[in-house]
Parts: sequence; C-alpha cells; structure tokens
Amino acid sequence: MKNKLNSGYRHLFGPIPSRRLGVSLGVDLFHSKVCTLDCVYCECGKTKNLTVSQNEYVPVDNVIYELKNFLSSAPDIDYITFAGSGEPTLHSCLGDLIRFLKCNYSRYRVAVLTNGTLFYEPDIIKQVLDADLVKVSIDAGSFENFDRINRPHHKLELSKIIDGLIKFRKQYNKELWIEVFIVKNINDTMPELNKIKNIINQIKPDRIHLNTLDRPGTESWVEPVEKSVLTDIAKYLNNAILIDKDEISGKISGNDIEKFIIATVKRRPITAKDVSSILKINENDADKCLNALFKNGQVDKKIMPRGIFYFNRN
Ligand code: SF4
Repeated sequence: MKNKLNSGYRHLFGPIPSRRLGVSLGVDLFHSKVCTLDCVYCECGKTKNLTVSQNEYVPVDNVIYELKNFLSSAPDIDYITFAGSGEPTLHSCLGDLIRFLKCNYSRYRVAVLTNGTLFYEPDIIKQVLDADLVKVSIDAGSFENFDRINRPHHKLELSKIIDGLIKFRKQYNKELWIEVFIVKNINDTMPELNKIKNIINQIKPDRIHLNTLDRPGTESWVEPVEKSVLTDIAKYLNNAILIDKDEISGKISGNDIEKFIIATVKRRPITAKDVSSILKINENDADKCLNALFKNGQVDKKIMPRGIFYFNRN
C-alpha cells in the first residue's frame, strides 16, 4: 500500500523510508525546540527551552487523535518513531503514547530517539520500557567536552547520565542503539575516544552508529571529520556503523514530494541530494521541486560550503 504523506498533521511527519528502520512514521511531541541539551551540531537549531522538567508540551489527546486518523487506513509502515524538534522523554505522556500504540497497533514497532540524559530517573526509564527500539546519544567522555558539545542544562551531570544509561540497559532487553556524533578537533582525539569507548562498553548496546556534520548545525564553527577519519574511529569504537544519509531505500511518489519537503524543512535544512536520496527520485527533479517551492515563497534557501540548503520560511 502506498503511504500517504501527512503535512496536514501537526504532530506526525514522514513516513520516511530508511535502511535502518524500514518505513518510519515520525511523531513530534513539541511545537518548538524543547531539550535537556543545546548541542552545537543540532539540526533543529538552538534549544528554545532548555529544561529537565517533564510537561505535556502538546496535548496528548491531539497526538492520539492524529495517530488514530493516520493509522486507520492501516498504512504500510514498519516503525512509529518518537523524534522531531525536542527530547521525547521530556513529554510527560510519552509512556502512555507508547502503551497506546503497543495495545492498539501491535503490528507496528515503536522507536524512541532520545539523548538518554534523563534515564537517571527511574520513572523515565519506565516510560520507554515498552518501546521496541531505543536510540541514545553519547558524544563525550569528559565533562569538558560534554559542556562544549552538548551544552547541557545546569542540573545534568555526565556521571549521573552514564549511571542512568547503565541502569536502563539492565532493565531494557530490546534493541538499544548508541549514536556518537564526532565534532572535528573536539571529540576526535584518542583520549576522548578512549573514554567514550569505555562508556559504551559499560552500557553494552546492540549497535553503535557514528555520525558527523553533513548539514548546517546550530553553530557555524562546527566542522565534520573526514570520511577516512570517521572510518578509523568506527573501527576503534567496536566496529560502529557509519551513518550514511544516502543509505535510504523505499519509494514515495508523485504529489507527495512537495508535502515531504515542506514537512521536512520544518525540522531540518535539506538539499536536493537529500530529497533525491530519500525519495529515490532524480536529483534534477528534486532540484526543480525545491526551486518551485522557493519561488512560491514556501521555503527559503541559503548557499553553504556543502551545497544549497533549503530551510523553513518563518
Ligand atoms: S541534537 Fe538532539 S539532544 Fe542535542 S540539542 Fe538537538 S534535539 Fe537536543
């Protein structure tokens, strides 16, 4: 069955086809960026609300209404993924939403993409135990680099976060992945990588993913490491898997392209190459579509060293 796109929804985005998650419907539990961190590489821009306080940031009933509506046609998707413009564990109803999906739509797997910083709280761990996949982030092994890269809320401590992640792994027996984001000249040194490796070995994830900058982050000084360096780091970090933004499979067709672009730029900048890779369409067609949206005033664009990026027009 063809997946319908849903830019008319406020809390759902995609579905996005990817090799790692199959076809994934995104659920965004925030209207603007709310996070426990303010990472220098964040594609969502600067954190507007830096907090460790849980809240019902968007009404859970509205999210359930949209999920029921979208899932009523039994779309052919593999994952429903909590991600988007904030840290999902900050939403006080995340656990209820995961249970709602597992009880009523058990054919779909549920993923949570989280920075994992709140797992030192036993209640936060409980909220995600029913998910089929949890992906957390570890970008620093030292307090200094945690501050430099992740710019945490003042109440967060790296040692407490690591203890929380180790406790979480002991209770969570489903898929746990760790993503490490490498920032050139900061966490790409051997002493730092050694510390990160030690943390990973204590948490014992099922998979490790390695990432570096490939689109504008929050801070313009952030630089990616070269592919060869990333490959060496991947080997050192227990044969981590390199995140390749081109490794996407599946198909979304026709009129859905524009809707996909509009829904995506609300969350992150995108290039014609991204659209081409994700939707498996010709890059020229992606370029034409992006330009048409730009001329209509629906997206903005900026020429960057790594190509032309299209942004949400505020
Ligand atoms: S990258 Fe993730 S954890 Fe970091 S600021 Fe952005 S949303 Fe928060």
